[in-house]
Amino acid sequence: MREKPSILILNTGGTIGMVLDEKTGALKPVNFDDLFDLIPTLRLFNFNIDHFCFDPLIDSSNMNPTTWASIAKVIEEKYELYDGFVILHGSDTMAFTASALSFMLQNLNKPVILTGSQLPLGMIRTDGRENLLTAVEIAAAKEDDTPVVPEVCICFENQLFRGNRTHKFNAQNFEAFRSSNYPELATAGVSVEYNRAAIHKPNFKKLKLYTKFDTNVAILRLYPGISEKVVQAHLEIPGLKALILETYGSGNAPDETWFINLIKRSIEKGLIIFNVTQCQVGKVEMGKYATSVHLKAAGVVSGHDITTEAAITKLMFLLGNYENRQEILNLLDVSIVGEMTVNS
Ligand code: ASP
Repeated sequence: MREKPSILILNTGGTIGMVLDEKTGALKPVNFDDLFDLIPTLRLFNFNIDHFCFDPLIDSSNMNPTTWASIAKVIEEKYELYDGFVILHGSDTMAFTASALSFMLQNLNKPVILTGSQLPLGMIRTDGRENLLTAVEIAAAKEDDTPVVPEVCICFENQLFRGNRTHKFNAQNFEAFRSSNYPELATAGVSVEYNRAAIHKPNFKKLKLYTKFDTNVAILRLYPGISEKVVQAHLEIPGLKALILETYGSGNAPDETWFINLIKRSIEKGLIIFNVTQCQVGKVEMGKYATSVHLKAAGVVSGHDITTEAAITKLMFLLGNYENRQEILNLLDVSIVGEMTVNS
């Protein structure tokens, strides 16, 4: 007889893990006993559910690469003991953490599902209850003894997304996330319907953990009227190794001489410039318009249809783990863990 599925819930903080303290009227984090009291339905799963609580619990605005590494290390340490992992996390930076984890946990063959909520678990109309229950069910799902979703995902408001394709787009509604350039991995209605063609296949190799990130990166978002001194100040940040240029449309930028020269000179000095579009849907196609030909000629790397969240974590990950500039450029241009669609 198959053993009960075992799930580890990691609590990092965020709105979901809070209840309203009746005495003080303030939101406070819940402990694990409270979690079962708040959601007695969790017991009905008949799973072994354990809990790991980070200390301190944080608002995800305080998330950083050190905490990403702590989360990934717990998953690596407990990897053989559990069938799947659910991470409770604030929604604000959830897409960054999901992207970072996808790069850190290479050869992942088990589900790692991030979830959170817009209203705390302790509130009557909370969305956290459904989000957590759905995440736990998906984390435990197996077919032929193989996990159905062996990848890092975000589960929110009945939708399951590939983590590194997701961005938070709504601070108001329960439907807070979108995956604009990649299909949903599953939708939860009466039953959970999996989009199997979109889900990674397990490779059954040993999990490999990478925890180093280099934060010598920056983002420059273009806007009409951007001045030479603003562009120059970004390109000359001391120690900067890579810059995301958030461009217009399909990867376009001004073709004024001062702009072209600044970009060219920085790349010649060794800076990596990664072209990511400001649009949520669609991709960078350098050379499609005259206003991107010069970027390609200068050696700017295409971000294809990558999100800014995945792009910044990919750069930090590559700079932290690879020394050879050409190797980093080659890896930037390919999809490592399904973070972008590369057609040619
Ligand atoms: N500020 C909160 C956080 O990201 C919002 C949330 O949990 O959804 O931690």
